[in-house]
Amino acid sequence: MSSDGPKDPKDPKDPPKPEMPDPDEIRKTLESMFGKLGGGKFTMPGMDPSSFSSEPDEEPEPESSPIEEKILDFNYLPRDIKAHLDRYVIRQDEAKKALAIAVCDHYNHVKALKAHDEDSERLELQKQNVIVVGPTGVGKTYLVKHIAELIGVPFVKADATKFSETGYVGGDVDDLVRELVSKANGDVSLAEYGIIYIDEIDKLAAKGGMIGRDVSGRGVQTTLLKLMEETEVPLRNPGDMRGQMMAMMDMQKGKKEKDSINTRHILFIVSGAFSGLEKIVRKRSSSSQIGFSADVAQPPMDKELFQQVTTQDFIDFGFEAEFIGRLPVRVVCEHLEADDLEAILKYSEGSLLRQYEKEFEAYGIDIKFKNDGIKRIAELAAGEMTGARGLMTAGERVLRDFKYELPGTSVAELVVNQDLIDNREDHLSKYRELGKELVVEKARQEVNTFISEFKAKHGVVITLDDDAVSLLVKTAGDQARSVLQVARQLFRDYQFGLKLIQKNTGQAAFVLTEKAVKDPDQFLSELVVRSYKEE
Ligand code: ADP
Repeated sequence: MSSDGPKDPKDPKDPPKPEMPDPDEIRKTLESMFGKLGGGKFTMPGMDPSSFSSEPDEEPEPESSPIEEKILDFNYLPRDIKAHLDRYVIRQDEAKKALAIAVCDHYNHVKALKAHDEDSERLELQKQNVIVVGPTGVGKTYLVKHIAELIGVPFVKADATKFSETGYVGGDVDDLVRELVSKANGDVSLAEYGIIYIDEIDKLAAKGGMIGRDVSGRGVQTTLLKLMEETEVPLRNPGDMRGQMMAMMDMQKGKKEKDSINTRHILFIVSGAFSGLEKIVRKRSSSSQIGFSADVAQPPMDKELFQQVTTQDFIDFGFEAEFIGRLPVRVVCEHLEADDLEAILKYSEGSLLRQYEKEFEAYGIDIKFKNDGIKRIAELAAGEMTGARGLMTAGERVLRDFKYELPGTSVAELVVNQDLIDNREDHLSKYRELGKELVVEKARQEVNTFISEFKAKHGVVITLDDDAVSLLVKTAGDQARSVLQVARQLFRDYQFGLKLIQKNTGQAAFVLTEKAVKDPDQFLSELVVRSYKEE
């Protein structure tokens, strides 16, 4: 199939692309808009069409860019990439290997093409685009994200169901390529070596062919196919007026920057759950070598069955032959059991437990996960049937009340074990009681500090009774300050009055009551007045 033939806008395989608006038309539209607003004649700075110059300012030819050097330096081995993935992704060994090989082949091909520029015709190499089959939440995106991070190329993810064939109805397929540029901080050269990952690709093969209103899955396959082969995507969306104006202004200024992105070296990875594909394979296999009864309940796709999947099975599933032909690398990501989810929590560097530890640490609480607690969270997560995503749901449910109630109390440690998970209410009330005890204990310590400070500074001995301490704790809580800060502030001038009383009566020590905390001035005045009477 050729992508450069004449375009027929009625052909669903060749959907019409909006034309680039004519700069002159944009200028006229703007002139009439500004004219209507009473602004008189409108001229964009430097937008007089007569000033358009066909000879841009001379700029030095760019030397080889850092990204090109980066690609020329690509020297990862498949085993290096797999080792990196092993740090984060649990299981999925086959997928790790296949992806590692595909990525190395891809960037080695690119490197070879760059190094032998003049022979590039002879070196025509098939791109190693990948199709990943697997249920939700088993690490498909996670794998691709970590590969892109390791090799330092931008990565964009999208759902195939959001696309339209021609753009502007839903998400434009071309926007994906432009997004790569923004992920690469505007570096078009880097974006041209990026990775595009498209999930829910199986929906494009839906029987009946429609993935949304007026959008045929077949049409989207055709559009994607062009990107996967090689095409130039304009850097600015032709429907974006502002972008077009900026492009014109750049052109006028004689900027020689690229205005399109070539997709030749972009690696495409697509994925989906492909439910039903296993039936197609089993049916075919049963009519050939393996005996399989159609009545037996169908287990999901596993590694063994996946090895039997052929291109024809994908076509029978509903894909265009050319489309599936552009996805030569095929891998399966398997369903994760409770044990795998437990391993994710324990051994993945991206484990959610690290995140929970940080979240509790922000409130000064040290959260500790015991083995039986981790196992329980994994079991609850497995019940969600959403792969490792269930871990987040289960973890959040288990910890929510603790995350709400413990911050702001004096509880400094939370131990998560199976008993805590199964008897949350009991543990919560225990922590509440403990919180109260700890608050009073901590307040007592701060009051003692205040008493010692007061004695050291002013030579006067004071004590606070229990009611005074309780009220201090409450006041400190209300004002979000420490008991020590509140005590220092309430009694900051007490030394004068107390020393006067000492002079009048010779009293050595003073007890401050709840009343002193409520109204320190009144309390002290009464003491002073009484001391004169006693004198
Ligand atoms: P999907 O297969 O639907 O693309 P993701 O890769 O987005 O699922 O997984 C969601 C999250 O679950 C990831 O961000 C990661 O934290 C966790 N996760 C999923 N699978 C694994 C796995 N095999 N090992 C470790 N973490 C995983």
